[in-house]
Amino acid sequence: MPYAMEQPSSDQVRALLGRFFDPASIAGVTIAAGRASIAIEINPARAAELEKPRAEAEHAIAELPGIERVHVVLTAAKAAAPAAAPAAAPRAHAHPPQQPAKRPLDGVRHVIAVASGKGGVGKSTTAANLALALAGLGQKVGVLDADIYGPSQHRILGLKGKPEVTGNKMLQPMLAFGLKAMTIGLLVPEDQAMIWRGPMVQGALNQLMREVAWAPLDILVIDMPPGTGDAQLTISQQAPLSGAVVVSTPQDLALIDATRAVSMFKKVAIPILGVVENMSTYVCPNCGHEAHIFGHGGARDEAYRLGVDFLGEIPLHADIRRTSDEGRPIMLEQPDGPHAAAYRAIAERVLAKLEGGAGAKAPPRISIS
Ligand code: ADP
Repeated sequence: MPYAMEQPSSDQVRALLGRFFDPASIAGVTIAAGRASIAIEINPARAAELEKPRAEAEHAIAELPGIERVHVVLTAAKAAAPAAAPAAAPRAHAHPPQQPAKRPLDGVRHVIAVASGKGGVGKSTTAANLALALAGLGQKVGVLDADIYGPSQHRILGLKGKPEVTGNKMLQPMLAFGLKAMTIGLLVPEDQAMIWRGPMVQGALNQLMREVAWAPLDILVIDMPPGTGDAQLTISQQAPLSGAVVVSTPQDLALIDATRAVSMFKKVAIPILGVVENMSTYVCPNCGHEAHIFGHGGARDEAYRLGVDFLGEIPLHADIRRTSDEGRPIMLEQPDGPHAAAYRAIAERVLAKLEGGAGAKAPPRISIS
């Protein structure tokens, strides 16, 4: 074959990283298909000072032959070891002792939650676009809409009809733009007000997780109900989560709703992959003028103050709302635009953290000769 793809070994990359970081802080190195994903475990108090070596390390690794993309992420909270697919090992070791072992989902490598301290911050829109961005990075992705108070993924992903039941009594997930999807919105009449009590939430979630033919998947994204009450706690305790993404608007961060969501996950020992600031900058669709309606800028510091990572910001833009409400998210509608790029950057960080997490199984090395 005329083309040979040679990549540096993870030891070579670790050696290079050792020039910038204490080798003991290198939580994970994954190299596959020209992409290097590296997680460095840090004390969040040193986040600002370590930003420079992070950028320099990224630059140095990018110079290595065979590397096309590099992500070095600073992580305050170690991502849990993923469940190996398909014959997953028990996850008891993945969490501190107070966390009861959760049954992994067969054939699903990672389950992540997208959560928010309150409704209306764009959690579902972020979950859908993040899922599409992860799929764009070559992952097999599913979306489980567990937002029992206001399911919306059927609208955002343009899902119609009823899911089919297969011979073995499993629900067939719906297919949306290459994603597998299942939402409580397709199973419960939209206008039916329901009071969800703990055991009901548990039952519904278990059905959505375990009675849907999800496998094989790399990542199942759970769109959580907003807030931090019993239902959210139940889901966090029941789902075999590798980590959680907390979506917040700038003012929500200041008003501590997001802080509550962060502490909820900490309480149940779920690693927080990071915070996304949604509706960050307002860009006028007519003149391109930028304004900071809900304030701007402090989110990164606030996230680090909470001891979690900052994954990125998404502007407040009419196109994001329109595409989300029309059932064709912006990741698909404007894949080359700045908003898709912002979601993609967040997805790359999430993926780097999942892949770089302690105990992550390195994907097979691809060599073409
Ligand atoms: P949540 O799940 O937090 O309740 P949604 O994702 O349903 O929030 O978003 C609430 C509304 O805000 C929707 O109409 C959605 O289209 C809109 N929206 C979400 N994110 C953005 C954004 N970045 N820019 C503009 N509109 C947005």
